[in-house]
Amino acid sequence: MTAQKIHIVGGGLVGTLAAIVLAQRGFAVALYERRPDMRKVAVAAGRSINLALTARGLKALGEVGLHDEVMKFAIAMRGRMLHDAQGNTSLVPYGQKPHEVIHSVSRGDLNKLLLEKAGSYASVEIFFNQRCAGYDLASRHLTLVDEQSSREKTVIADVVIGADGGGSALRHTMSNHVKDFAMTQDTLAHGYKELVIPAAPGGGFLMEKHALHIWPRKSYMLIALPNMDGSFTVTLFLAHEGRESFAALATEADVQAFFAEIFPDAARMMPSLGKDFFHNPTGSMTTVKCLPWHVQDQLLLIGDAAHAIVPFFGQGMNAGFEDCSALGALLETHGADWKSLFPALEKMRKPNTDAIADMALENFVEMHDTVADARFQFKKQVGFELERRYPGRFIPRYAMVVFHPEIPYAEAKRRGEIQDILLEELCAGATTIEQIDWHKAAQLVGDMKF
Ligand SMILES: Cc1cc2nc3c(=O)[nH]c(=O)nc-3n(C[C@H](O)[C@H](O)[C@H](O)COP(=O)(O)OP(=O)(O)OC[C@H]3O[C@@H](n4cnc5c(N)ncnc54)[C@H](O)[C@@H]3O)c2cc1C
Repeated sequence: MTAQKIHIVGGGLVGTLAAIVLAQRGFAVALYERRPDMRKVAVAAGRSINLALTARGLKALGEVGLHDEVMKFAIAMRGRMLHDAQGNTSLVPYGQKPHEVIHSVSRGDLNKLLLEKAGSYASVEIFFNQRCAGYDLASRHLTLVDEQSSREKTVIADVVIGADGGGSALRHTMSNHVKDFAMTQDTLAHGYKELVIPAAPGGGFLMEKHALHIWPRKSYMLIALPNMDGSFTVTLFLAHEGRESFAALATEADVQAFFAEIFPDAARMMPSLGKDFFHNPTGSMTTVKCLPWHVQDQLLLIGDAAHAIVPFFGQGMNAGFEDCSALGALLETHGADWKSLFPALEKMRKPNTDAIADMALENFVEMHDTVADARFQFKKQVGFELERRYPGRFIPRYAMVVFHPEIPYAEAKRRGEIQDILLEELCAGATTIEQIDWHKAAQLVGDMKF
């Protein structure tokens, strides 16, 4: 008997992991990727050069046997290293246990690892330079355009998974042909630009290697994540328009003056700043929410195609990898009954991806503004103390999202809201941990209803 063939559009992070999940369960997979094979041709990494990989993503990678492989090029980041306007630094830890770290990984290296693994299965065929131009639901024809020859072809595809990213062509097909298809697309007024702090002369890191560096400056910020070669990928998040904006930085001299004034310590480590600033594109950040994610037993959207989010919780890829993990789990119970599996996956994932989309937007404010507040740091300290005193019962929201994949995003959001009210009440009028009324804390924690 020939295995049923699943057609996946998009050979990015999520599409390749989905191909592996399916191949490991005996399906044949045809994977179509618009770009050339990044293992052979240097292609721009895409939307960010490196990413924060956290427990949810690692769990999904572990399920397909890639945990140890990815850890070979992952750099642990223990907390946020805050840089003030004078260049002073202080570390705000992400968690309080040794394993509570997040990991900086190269998008390119991770994508190549996933392509390599997907391609190692005889049942997986990967077609590069193939852009999907649409899917005819009635005839089940998937249209592909060869990016080199511009030649168009159609293949009969009974089951299609759209993992073609935030600008998904397959979501577009659904929006045109599915009655009652609902979608919102909210683009931030801020954009982002990637820059670089190179490795120290002779190798090594110019700043603390095991941290995610942040220069919070109220309405905008700079961040930097470490790379294996000693460099840092630096990202400026700034409004597109206005007094302090990308539009206001029109010349290399403007950029140098802005960085020297606002991010002086970073500026001193960025010799190619002026050139990089005008060479590298300015990206936009959009939250996409849509429903349904599927059409009958034919088409399913996963990853950014179904739920693109802003990057401030470092969870977009992690959430997409969780989709793949859910797909694997549902295949165990539903088998190839796509008519029941697709809605089950949508039902399981949609409330959770909506929740992380909202929390990612909230985290933007935390990162560029409140993280530097004494009040924020005090509440964080009290939250850690509550976690120490009531393990399992009180888990700070950040920890739930990033270190506890067993707690779904929607649950983390809900519990986080309840805990935040408790923290507000407990910290009211206090400025030091000694002033906290721990009897009241015990009562409030005991009364929490999740
Ligand atoms: C600045 C920034 C920083 C981020 N940082 C983090 C982070 O730290 N941690 C984290 O978890 N997430 C992060 N994210 C989010 C993360 O990048 C995405 O969630 C993730 O890339 C989604 O993977 P995907 O495979 O669904 O989509 P994509 O990565 O967009 O991959 C889609 C693939 O489909 C291909 N494709 C597109 N259209 C077609 C077509 N018509 N036909 C064929 N192929 C097509 C593309 O070439 C691409 O290879 C960040 C995003 C940004 C913008």
